[in-house]
Amino acid sequence: MKKTLAGVLLMGVSAFAAAAEPDFSNVQITTLPLAPGLAMLIGQGGNIAVSTGSDGPVIVDDQFAPLVPKITAAVKALQDAPIRFVINTHHHFDHTGGNEGFGNAGALIFAHENVRTKMASEQVSRLMNRTMPASPEAALPVVTFDDGVTLHWNDEIIRVEHVASAHTDGTAISGLRRPTPCTWVTPS
Ligand SMILES: [Zn+2]
Repeated sequence: MKKTLAGVLLMGVSAFAAAAEPDFSNVQITTLPLAPGLAMLIGQGGNIAVSTGSDGPVIVDDQFAPLVPKITAAVKALQDAPIRFVINTHHHFDHTGGNEGFGNAGALIFAHENVRTKMASEQVSRLMNRTMPASPEAALPVVTFDDGVTLHWNDEIIRVEHVASAHTDGTAISGLRRPTPCTWVTPS
C-alpha cells in the first residue's frame, strides 16, 4: 500500500487519539527529584512539577482524573501534607484532568483566565476528532490571572506567567527561585 503523507499523518492522529484514553490502571507515577523541594512526576500526560517545603505541596498540572490517587500518593511520599495549590499550564485534558479531584480535596486551582473560560464550555478538536464536554464547576480554576501571578511559598518565589502566541491562548509557564539574601539590615 502506497503511503501518503496525509495517510501517515492520519495514522499518527488516530494513534494519538487512541492513546488519549489509555488503561490508567497500568500507569505508574515516577518521581524525579530535581532539587531540594522540587521534583517532577512522570505518569501519563503532561509531567507534573511539585514544590514542597514549610508551607506545603504545590503542583503544576495534574494529568488525568483516574490518576489522582496515584499522584496524591507520590506527592505524599515527598511531603505528608495536603496539596495546597494546583497551577494549570493550559486547559488541555492531559494537564487538567485531575483538577476536580484535587479541587475537591481542598487545593486551590490557579490558571490563566482563558483556561477557566475554555474548561467551562464544550471543546471540539477536529484534529483528534474528539469532543470534550464542559468541566464540572469543581474542576475550574478558582484563581485566574491575565498576565501572571506570583506565589511566595515554600521559601521560593513561584512566578507564573502567561505566554501569548503559545500552545493555547491560555498557556502559562512557571518558574521558581529562592529570594536573594539581602545584605541590608534594619537599624534597631
Ligand atoms: Zn496541550
